[in-house]
Amino acid sequence: MRPYLLLTPGPLTTTDTVKQAMMADWCTWDEDYNVHIVEEVRHALVKLATTQVDDYTAVLMQGSGTYCVEAVIGSAIRPATDKLLILSNGAYGDRMGHIAEYHGLHYDLMAFDETEQGSAADVDDYLAHNPEVTHVAVVHCETTTGVLNPLSEIAHVVKMYGKRLIVDAMSSFGGVPMDVAALGADFLISSANKCIQGVPGFGFIIARRSELERCQGVSRSLSLDLYDQWKAMEKGHGKWRFTSPTHVVRAFKQALEELDAEGGVPARHVRYCENHRVLVEGMRSLGFETLLPDAVQSPVITSFLYPHAGFDFKSFYAQLKSKGFVIYPGKISQADTFRIGSIGDVHPDDFRRLTEAVRACVY
Ligand SMILES: *Cc1c(COP(=O)(O)O)cnc(C)c1O
Repeated sequence: MRPYLLLTPGPLTTTDTVKQAMMADWCTWDEDYNVHIVEEVRHALVKLATTQVDDYTAVLMQGSGTYCVEAVIGSAIRPATDKLLILSNGAYGDRMGHIAEYHGLHYDLMAFDETEQGSAADVDDYLAHNPEVTHVAVVHCETTTGVLNPLSEIAHVVKMYGKRLIVDAMSSFGGVPMDVAALGADFLISSANKCIQGVPGFGFIIARRSELERCQGVSRSLSLDLYDQWKAMEKGHGKWRFTSPTHVVRAFKQALEELDAEGGVPARHVRYCENHRVLVEGMRSLGFETLLPDAVQSPVITSFLYPHAGFDFKSFYAQLKSKGFVIYPGKISQADTFRIGSIGDVHPDDFRRLTEAVRACVY
């Protein structure tokens, strides 16, 4: 079931048992699905996100992670009265800006260098001078480069000013410990095919119930109306408004059980950190350099600089693929890079084998 390992930011390598969980058909109308799969998944997600489970709920949404980001921005920000501040140090921060633009929202994009973290001090300064801002959106792990933004420092400032906080934790939730209530986050977004290690097909929003209530009637999109999706799920005990990706949701439940069996988020974080450490140590021993300084680097995905000017990424990629590893191209303009992910059902020994495979490549 595994021609090669995906060392990518998702979809990623999943276990055989997660894939096998999809080998049955489910009826969205039947309680075997909605009560015993969807509702259990929703509760498990809230428990993963916080110890203050009563204040929060989980809404599942068809599509990829971006659909959920758009559902949140389009349902939480009122065009007439609200203003959104977006922090961006990469493609995913920029994407939130595109969404705000499409929806005709009042917003400002605070841009940081792609190789630097977003700055809590800058947010403090901005909010001190722009009291009309109502919401702040930030990407936790900017998968474009692998930068981990200082989420708790930024969240602290946002809450100090009494603003609402939206977190794109797409590539960190489930793999990096966090508590939405402790952060004061109002909406946290992630998807099935990242650190929970499910397969692609839906995303989810962990939301403060009182903030969801405020979303009624705001969305200008029917299918991305977060409030309506939530209300329908609550009323129907796990029923989705429109066809749900039943097999994918069942696989996700299996993935959540496997996360629990591994020892939860803290244990998974330790494994990802060890994957990352072995990867970087191996690549550096072969003369490769990381794009980012270690201090701002996440354990999720790592950008490496091309080793020399004439480096042929396509050929390098093909050689590694033939040896059982699929890596990822770079995504920034200021430097020639490629990326290697350390999330998914991949383990430190896989990265030791990867180092040997890279050593055997001609590049
Ligand atoms: C994966 C990812 C997304 C969502 O991207 P999709 O292509 O819609 O799945 C959003 N933000 C971040 C930080 C991501 O890593």
